[in-house]
Amino acid sequence: MTIPQASGAASPVARPDELLLSVQDLQVEFSTSAGVVRALDGVSFDVRAGQTVAILGESGSGKSVTAQAIMALLPQPAGSIVGGRILYGGVDLAAAPVRTVRELCATEIAMIFQDPLSSLNPVHRVGAQIAELFQRRRGTPKKEAWAKALTLLKRVGIPDAETRIRDFPHQFSGGQRQRIMIAMAIALEPKLLIGDEPTTALDVTVQQQVMNLLADLQAETGMGMILISHDLGVVAEVADRAAIMYAGRIVEAGGIREVYDNPAHPYTQGLLNSIPSNTAAGERLNPIVGSPPNLLALPSGCSFHPRCPFATQLCREKSPALRHPEGWAADHSGACHRTEEVLTHG
Ligand code: SF4
Repeated sequence: MTIPQASGAASPVARPDELLLSVQDLQVEFSTSAGVVRALDGVSFDVRAGQTVAILGESGSGKSVTAQAIMALLPQPAGSIVGGRILYGGVDLAAAPVRTVRELCATEIAMIFQDPLSSLNPVHRVGAQIAELFQRRRGTPKKEAWAKALTLLKRVGIPDAETRIRDFPHQFSGGQRQRIMIAMAIALEPKLLIGDEPTTALDVTVQQQVMNLLADLQAETGMGMILISHDLGVVAEVADRAAIMYAGRIVEAGGIREVYDNPAHPYTQGLLNSIPSNTAAGERLNPIVGSPPNLLALPSGCSFHPRCPFATQLCREKSPALRHPEGWAADHSGACHRTEEVLTHG
């Protein structure tokens, strides 16, 4: 089954491998009563059509702030982009009026949020909420819009969709609500889909089903995807690239297999060691010691040094730049002074 073609001005289909989004040296700050927080500090990555980029890290690493900056959803008035560019279709979203970004986000860039219950309107039937997208954005007549909504609900695997289309959000399970959010997100055939912890509230089996659904939809539409997660296991099978974030910076980036098989940053190694499925039966989980840093008082040098088993005096004094050491796979880069030792002994 294919995703229905909406009437009106659908966004043009992206060419395979077309560069959709280029985030360049992005810097975001928040003004708080305790001072200015640098939430993103020089974040750069690209997303191409048909590609899935996973942005990974613990809470507070800057993953969601990255998505909020792209979608012009930074909390106001505290959050602001203070440097860098977000290039999408020739437009710098970092410098464009919010109205322009919101218009693009309504038609070409879609987002799936962590909590579908708070994202869906509790007093409207799910069919009406999906149909409204076609009616408002494409001028689709009501009856046709409901037919498209039904097709979408079937596409995302809602059982007995002909009946359930008239149900309210609270009448669905958590997994079904997330599927409905996905249906709404893909309704207007976005070129780019951003999932911010889209499976966090779901059990492991449903998590995998939702990830498989997103991968199927991507294969069908050629859209680019950004998947944000704290769980490296969840995105392992669907992502093409990984960007590991810590304290507002990307500390390792590369092809997903390269990053997972040859993690070159102690933080990436720690995250991978924390995945339950990477731990043999009977073995204790191996979490990273310590906590993410307070962004108002970042440690000197490499901000990971208080938690890092490889830390030396140099690490405490100098912040490592993201670099591509000789002999690494193409596009694999890491921000660590001791990458070679980490690769050998980690
Ligand atoms: Fe650890 Fe030093 Fe590398 Fe930072 S630069 S991750 S402290 S070894």
